[in-house]
Amino acid sequence: MQLHTRSETQKLGTQKKLGPGSASNLDTAAQGQEASIMNIEKTGGRFFSGKCSSLPGVRQFPMIQKMVESMAQLQEEKLQLQEELLALQGKLSAQENEELTVSVQLQDQIENLKDKLLAQTQEINRFHSGLGGTDLEKHRDLLVTENERLKQEMKSCEAELLELRKQHVKCVDCEHVQENARLQERLAQLQLEVGEAKGRLSELDLEVQQKTNRLAEVELRLKDSLAEKAEEEERLSRRLRDSQETIASLKAQPQQIKCIIKTVEVESSKAKQVLCEAQSRNQYLKEQVGMQKQVLKEMEQQLQNSHKTAAQLRAQIMLYESELERAHGQMLEEMQKMEDEKNQAIEEAFARAQVEMKAVHENLAGVRTNLLTLQPALRTLTNDYNSLKRQVRDFPLLLQETLHNAKTEIGQAIEEVNNTNRELLRKYRRELQLRKKCHNELVRLKGNIRVFGRVRPITKEDGEGPEAVNEVTFDPDDDAILHLMHKGKLVSFELDKVFPPHATQEDVFQEVQALITSCIDGYNVCIFAYGQTGAGKTYTMEGTPDNPGINQRALQLLFSEVRGKASDWNYVISVSVAEIYNEALRDLLGKEPQEKLDIKLCPDGSGQLYVPGLTEFQVQSVEDINKVFEFGHINRATECTNLNEHSSRSHALLIITVRGFDYSTGLRTTGKLNLVDLAGSERVGRSGAEGNRLREAQYINKSLSALGDVIYALRSRQGHVPFRNSKLTYLLQDSLSGDSKTLMMVQVSPAEKNTSETLCSLKFAERVRSVELGPVSRKAELMSWSSQEHLESESSVAAQPSIRTLSSSNSGAPTGRANSLRRKLQTSGKLRPVPV
Ligand code: ADP
Ligand code: MG
Repeated sequence: MQLHTRSETQKLGTQKKLGPGSASNLDTAAQGQEASIMNIEKTGGRFFSGKCSSLPGVRQFPMIQKMVESMAQLQEEKLQLQEELLALQGKLSAQENEELTVSVQLQDQIENLKDKLLAQTQEINRFHSGLGGTDLEKHRDLLVTENERLKQEMKSCEAELLELRKQHVKCVDCEHVQENARLQERLAQLQLEVGEAKGRLSELDLEVQQKTNRLAEVELRLKDSLAEKAEEEERLSRRLRDSQETIASLKAQPQQIKCIIKTVEVESSKAKQVLCEAQSRNQYLKEQVGMQKQVLKEMEQQLQNSHKTAAQLRAQIMLYESELERAHGQMLEEMQKMEDEKNQAIEEAFARAQVEMKAVHENLAGVRTNLLTLQPALRTLTNDYNSLKRQVRDFPLLLQETLHNAKTEIGQAIEEVNNTNRELLRKYRRELQLRKKCHNELVRLKGNIRVFGRVRPITKEDGEGPEAVNEVTFDPDDDAILHLMHKGKLVSFELDKVFPPHATQEDVFQEVQALITSCIDGYNVCIFAYGQTGAGKTYTMEGTPDNPGINQRALQLLFSEVRGKASDWNYVISVSVAEIYNEALRDLLGKEPQEKLDIKLCPDGSGQLYVPGLTEFQVQSVEDINKVFEFGHINRATECTNLNEHSSRSHALLIITVRGFDYSTGLRTTGKLNLVDLAGSERVGRSGAEGNRLREAQYINKSLSALGDVIYALRSRQGHVPFRNSKLTYLLQDSLSGDSKTLMMVQVSPAEKNTSETLCSLKFAERVRSVELGPVSRKAELMSWSSQEHLESESSVAAQPSIRTLSSSNSGAPTGRANSLRRKLQTSGKLRPVPV
């Protein structure tokens, strides 16, 4: 080393500075060496080292000196190369170490990554197989299971709720179901993301694996090249040692320089060649090292990239984990919420269910009780049913038997009934005879002529003031007695019955209806309404449309009676309506009402009377009656200018004929009911009346007197009854004689201004009634009923005490009053004409 000159050293330093990569400099240096060696050969092959130059021998051999110099230079170069090699080796080893470290680190990382991969794979496997997993997964699985369980529970609750609210409650848990579905969706999404992340992780693992493989390859190659280098180095150093030994031996033997030089020259060329090879080899190694470095760099780069990717993956995993955690938290929260809601819903449902269950229990209890009570009933019903079934089965036989028995029994019964009927019919006929006999006896006892009095109420027509004062009073204990205050004196009268003003049409009819029904049995009946005009005759007989009188009520009664007997009797009811005006009889239902009718004896010699041409209408209902009455009214109205005036001056007759036929006996009956609304009985002042008015009054007076005479004669059972004295009595001859019954309804006004007429009417009534008394009546047989002279003058009435007073003052015998009256009449001896 000490042989190096300053410039050479500098040159070496420059070369050194160029470093292992400056191959061109090395080539240049090698070319320089070759040039020096060529120069040595041209100059006789002399060789000198650096040290030798100072030697006097060297100076003497420039060739050797040059050689030595070139050798020194070569050695220097060799040294430099060795240094460089060492440096390179150091660097290489450092790099190897570094590579080793990096490799170890990489291995570690790979191991870590493998571990993680393994863990991930296991996790994935676990996840896939569902056997175990991380705590999180376990927890999640648990939660999923819990969720499933809760869902099941909720479903059952919902089903229960639905069951309970089937009729009127809709599902309120739809919200929860939706929430649950949403959560499940989210869970599925998260699971999908985890799967994706795992896929990506496995991809990255694969990549890392590939890189590791490549790294291992590169490492292998590096090791090979290092081993080659080491071998080459070994070889070079061995040769160098050999050369150095040779040089040292040459130095030690100068006498042999020439040959040595030669040898050296020869060897030097060889050495040069070897050096060249070594240099080229070195160059190649350097290139290899450079390449390796490049590869290493790339690998480092790749490693860094891997690191980065791993870091990214870790971050992503962290992110996923946090996401998972968050989702888990959210899920827990929602599960809690759902749990709460579920609990609440369950509580509500439970409460509702309890209430409903209570009601159901109550119902059930009721049903149980019903069932308990029904069971015995059911048993009874079953028994009944069974017995009925048996009966139904046995029914045809039983029926036949029963029918046979029944037929026999019915035959017997019919026979018995026939016998009984015959017996009954016999008894009935006997009873009928008896009844008729009894009735006749009763009529005979009661008298077949009865006299009722009816007092109308004070009306507007009576006006006001003293004239309209009520002068009639009644005996509260006896409905047959009334009192009249006339000119300051109280006169009392006794009739068969007295109707006060408040007596209704119904009350009146009640009293007469027995009389009316007797005409169904074939009796003739006459009912007369007697009294002054305005005393209520028409009211009593006809009445008003809404409050009918005797006429209509009598017909209605006859209809109902006939209907009641319809099973045994056939009845035909017919009516005639007539009037007697001025002793002329006219048919009010005829086509020519103005025509005067005659009363004739029947040509059959029966002595019966009949009116040829008198219309007779058959009636069956109230409507028929109303039509007949209306027709009669119309005919009556067309025949006169003033109906009221006319009706008060004429007698109106309603003749009802009831013809009956008894189916069982073949008996035929005919009864006549004559309802007569007489003309006004008031007296017309002698002076005031003339012309028509006078004639009317005379006719009325005559007919009323004739009626009185006839009744008197009948009741006193006189041999001769003067029926022919008036048209009225002649017409009613059949109905007044024999078993016939007569009712005289005497109508009176209670007003003060009418007291005179009232007095007359009542006296007439009482007189008719008093005739009933047998012995006296017989006595009075010779008396004429027309002797109404006491009615003539008020003074005569006023002068006498009342009839009641008279009778009471008598011996007290029931006939005393009438006797005294008749005596008086007889003593008076006045048979004056009827006053008009
Ligand atoms: P007559 O036929 O005797 O001339 P009416 O029957 O025409 O008398 O009666 C005269 C008036 O007195 C009529 O307005 C009638 O309504 C009335 N009248 C008669 N009797 C009664 C009575 N009992 N109740 C009420 N009003 C009666
Ligand atoms: Mg009248």
